[in-house]
Amino acid sequence: MRVFNFAAGPSTLPLPVLEEAKKDLLDYQGTGMSIMEMSHRGKTFMEVNAEANALLRELMNIPENYSVLFVQGGASQQFAAVPLNLAVNRKADYILTGNFATKAYEEGLKYGDMAVAASSKEDNFTYIPDMNNVKFRDGIDYVHFTYNNTIFGSRFTTLPKTDATLVTDMSSNILSEVVDVSKFGLIYAGAQKNVAPAGLTIVIVKKDLLGHALPECPTMLNYAIQDKNDSLYNTPPCWPMYIAMLVFRYLKANGGVPAMQKINEEKAKMLYDFIDNSSFYKNNVNKKDRSLMNVPFVSPNADLDAKFVKEATASGLVSLKGHRLVGGMRASIYNAMPIEGVKALIDFMKKFETENR
Ligand SMILES: *Cc1c(COP(=O)(O)O)cnc(C)c1O
Repeated sequence: MRVFNFAAGPSTLPLPVLEEAKKDLLDYQGTGMSIMEMSHRGKTFMEVNAEANALLRELMNIPENYSVLFVQGGASQQFAAVPLNLAVNRKADYILTGNFATKAYEEGLKYGDMAVAASSKEDNFTYIPDMNNVKFRDGIDYVHFTYNNTIFGSRFTTLPKTDATLVTDMSSNILSEVVDVSKFGLIYAGAQKNVAPAGLTIVIVKKDLLGHALPECPTMLNYAIQDKNDSLYNTPPCWPMYIAMLVFRYLKANGGVPAMQKINEEKAKMLYDFIDNSSFYKNNVNKKDRSLMNVPFVSPNADLDAKFVKEATASGLVSLKGHRLVGGMRASIYNAMPIEGVKALIDFMKKFETENR
């Protein structure tokens, strides 16, 4: 009765994790209550917080001199939190490769002299600017970019070349591919794409960047305060943190991020190869910049796109409608999407093409 759910976020979670959560729902480890009914300061939940933190560190190989924070407000809240904590000189550069990157830049403008170092807007964000040709200003506090562009289906494969602090939004590709955390000053991610239910935001920040927040930084957005309190300054998102812990355990038991990357590359290649070899479907993203996680595609016209989405849904392949900024379809194939789901999608695409060409 489970469908293949291609939603961009909130999105599909691993079935074994949902089954574990179901088992724990009424009675978590003999406490006689659910994790969502107990104090966040009690021993049981403190263990969840600590284990989730330790497992994420292990999975992403996060160095000792970084803090891992579990906060709320979504990735969108980080668009403000980043400049409020890091823009000590009120000057930063942004690379605009999509909708969320642009929103982060526009939020940043409220706090300082922010500039666009590069943008692919003129081509409707169908590519990532060549990092060898992008120059940054002197005296900037950081360079911000969106690692994976969820709506437009592109991703960075080369990091910006700069000595300035790198800040990246990894909401839609955290834990999907191996990343060298030590190259970054700060990584943030809304958890609802690749990790957990909505409500949790992950912040990974180099410790020497803490403690320099702008005077107007709200207490709740101050990383140093969240860090000092082990993410328990106020009531944290207990339930998503618990699910995140289960997802981290599941990833660890299944080979960790390198194993995920291998499967994700295989899934994405299958789908892109099929689209590229078809004269019916089309993906407009520059080949070397294509996302492993979000695959937008179109059929020959908008009426057929609508028919595709409707008939796919009836076949148990759901949430394939593209974002309104792009149209067509989008298959989000996060860690939790099994390879069988991608195969089922391709089979459906073949059948739909035969019936409608
Ligand atoms: C979904 C998404 C966001 C917005 O996340 P919220 O948690 O809803 O604020 C920001 N950036 C990227 C890359 C996303 O995919």
